[in-house]
Amino acid sequence: MNMLELTAISKQYPGGVQAVDQFSLTLKEGELGVLVGPSGCGKTTTLRMIAGLETPDEGTIRIRGQAVDGQRPQDRDVAMMFQSSALFPWLSVAENLAFGLAKKNLDRRAHRSQIEAIARQLQLEDLLERKARTLSGGQRQRVALGRALLKEAAVLLMDEPLSSLDRQLRLQLQDEILRLCRQRGQTALLVTHDQSEALNLADRLVVMNQGRIEQNDIPQRIVTQPATLFAAQFIGERPINLWTVRIAAPQSFFQPSRIVWPAGADTVVIGVRPQQLRARMIGPASQPEAEAALRGEAVIEQFHWIGAQCFGSGSLGGRLVEFSLPEGANSQIGDRVILSAAASALHFFDPETGRRLSHAAISFSQ
Ligand code: ATP
Repeated sequence: MNMLELTAISKQYPGGVQAVDQFSLTLKEGELGVLVGPSGCGKTTTLRMIAGLETPDEGTIRIRGQAVDGQRPQDRDVAMMFQSSALFPWLSVAENLAFGLAKKNLDRRAHRSQIEAIARQLQLEDLLERKARTLSGGQRQRVALGRALLKEAAVLLMDEPLSSLDRQLRLQLQDEILRLCRQRGQTALLVTHDQSEALNLADRLVVMNQGRIEQNDIPQRIVTQPATLFAAQFIGERPINLWTVRIAAPQSFFQPSRIVWPAGADTVVIGVRPQQLRARMIGPASQPEAEAALRGEAVIEQFHWIGAQCFGSGSLGGRLVEFSLPEGANSQIGDRVILSAAASALHFFDPETGRRLSHAAISFSQ
């Protein structure tokens, strides 16, 4: 069942800012959707229109299959959680949680058991009688999450719910959001500008730019087949390497015999993620991979660590590129390395529109 359906919704604010432009999205029951994009791209406005806090100029919003246009926020089947959710500071955690309860007609014992159950799941059991004003930021966000989940709404809307927390807490709460939404079959739409949070949480990921959708897909496909240059640049722990290439005269490190060029183009932008641009130390045994579509040499100028993985950067054909270094390599700044990438690691984009050029055409040329 589709719990949330947005069809071509648009919103222009007074003053002419087109905050959201022809935005469509469907979330099935139990799906966790994530809107990701730079500041000002229209994420919050989209959420506010679903909640009924803003009115779209065009388009339709359906919740559980019913159009909600014109309905007041309190009449829509949604629950909300924000970056700094307002709790009642003088009330206890249990009392704050009770505000979320969906079935107000249950007796007190039933209420209490629901509150205790969610408190257990969120590790708040020992804090139930504490006043909200005495809680830490992470504990407060847990209470806000519990309160929103207790509402048992068709759709849970979360606007940057973790952005005020430190990294450790953020990761912990990401896991809790995922686990609890899964357990309860809760459909949810979360907004973040943090691409790694988006990748961790999303069943369905929507990359937004200037009010429009750049790509709406499962996270894995957004990483492996970015639909636009913008999506390719926005998603990824390290910046994707990009070259503008004239097909008639490509840079010498491209191996034209290993590349099937997209039909009909004379200039393309080629992207290669640092993870797929592999460096090997130059030594007696260092033969470049015969099938590589990109092959060149660089000098390591800098190291960049992402967790346990080490990337290097250096100049290739006169521009700075990032590449992955083999695990355990004892490389030093100044070392020469051989860089290579397979044809399948190359992403092609139209330089005018920024759109991906036919992936099917990219394969090993024999
Ligand atoms: P952030 O990540 O910074 O919260 P966002 O992606 O959520 O940004 P929105 O808050 O939806 O973006 O804003 C989209 C655009 O609409 C921005 O240019 C913003 O300045 C503008 N905007 C938002 N609210 C209003 C308003 N009430 N009046 C006029 N313009 C607004």
